[in-house]
Amino acid sequence: MAMGDLKALLAAAHAVQPEVVSLRRRIHAEPELGLELPATRAKILEALDGLPLEIALHESCSGVVATLRGAADGPTLLLRGDMDALPMPEDTGLPFRSQREGVMHACGHDSHVAMLAGAAKLLCERRESLRGQVVFLFQPGEEGFAGAKLMLEEGLPNFDSAFAIHISPLLPCGTIATRPGPILASADFFECVVRGRGGHASMPHDCRDPIPAAAEMIGALQTFVGREVPASDPAVLSVSKIRGGTAANVIPESVELAGTIRALSRQTREKVHEGLHRVIAGIAAAHGVEAEVDLQLGYPVTENDAAFEGFARGVGRELLGPAGVFEMPAPMMGAEDFSYILQRAPGAMVFLGVRPEGERNPAPCHSNRMLLAEEGMAFGAALHTAVALRFFEERARA
Ligand SMILES: [Zn+2]
Ligand SMILES: [Zn+2]
Repeated sequence: MAMGDLKALLAAAHAVQPEVVSLRRRIHAEPELGLELPATRAKILEALDGLPLEIALHESCSGVVATLRGAADGPTLLLRGDMDALPMPEDTGLPFRSQREGVMHACGHDSHVAMLAGAAKLLCERRESLRGQVVFLFQPGEEGFAGAKLMLEEGLPNFDSAFAIHISPLLPCGTIATRPGPILASADFFECVVRGRGGHASMPHDCRDPIPAAAEMIGALQTFVGREVPASDPAVLSVSKIRGGTAANVIPESVELAGTIRALSRQTREKVHEGLHRVIAGIAAAHGVEAEVDLQLGYPVTENDAAFEGFARGVGRELLGPAGVFEMPAPMMGAEDFSYILQRAPGAMVFLGVRPEGERNPAPCHSNRMLLAEEGMAFGAALHTAVALRFFEERARA
């Protein structure tokens, strides 16, 4: 496919844009949380109805897997769009704003679904030229429910590579940004109960005061991350919750701490886990108190495959022009469950700019005022499609 063909693809994406926008707005108005998203699933199935796709519905959640078989056999590319909203109020004033109190599509997953459905239509129209399979993965439960992991465990068709788009209201419309290697962090959560012996605050020597022990733990955890984690492979440890005590003259029995750990490599992630246990246990021993640590593992590091990321960036340049593609100087410390999919097969995630025209100070994802420029979705649908078309061409040549 020559340069001109990708221009034609942009025109085709603009032709399906009214359907893409309509689907996005309907999902936006009726957002759903977590793993069970029946209304969202119904809208996806309606949008795919009549297309030459094999549809599989997951039972463990509302996931939808739609497979397109090209005219000839070849490798399989998975394209992913996540489906779920966030438990938060919406204050955008949009005419199609959320009709469900306390639930909002503030991370743009409504647009992810709509762009992927648009790409499904565009790729179905080009089925005759495809040498391979495209798996369109509509996945619920990204916001903390590990929906991708659940769908992998329940079973997905085998795939050779995977690609996903996440919108960003901070980037100019019609641009993309990505990077090779880690693009998003791992996210783990810990809780710690420091248990001493309570008593009268005037007589600490008759108690085992958990408060100074907890205070020392907080300081030591920060120091440990600063001293033991290499600056070139960083981590974040934040103690973001502390609770203990009821009165000024009472030493409490226990103090609770909680926080999060972010890292950009498996080695650093494990180093911080080990240090968390060691530092807390050591300080507890020094103070003669007990400490229980509960570490919950969250999403792993989202790691773009360097070769696939280079390929996707090249497709982006062809589609959007050289000025439309940025390499991110550093990863973001947020997390994504697309990471589980990238542990199965090489692939990449890219951020797609959807900054509203003339907006100097756009509200980011997860803001109650987050707005996205819907024109950007045409680029997203075209990018999914272009990545698939070029993927099969490259593999056929290889
Ligand atoms: Zn989010
Ligand atoms: Zn998101």
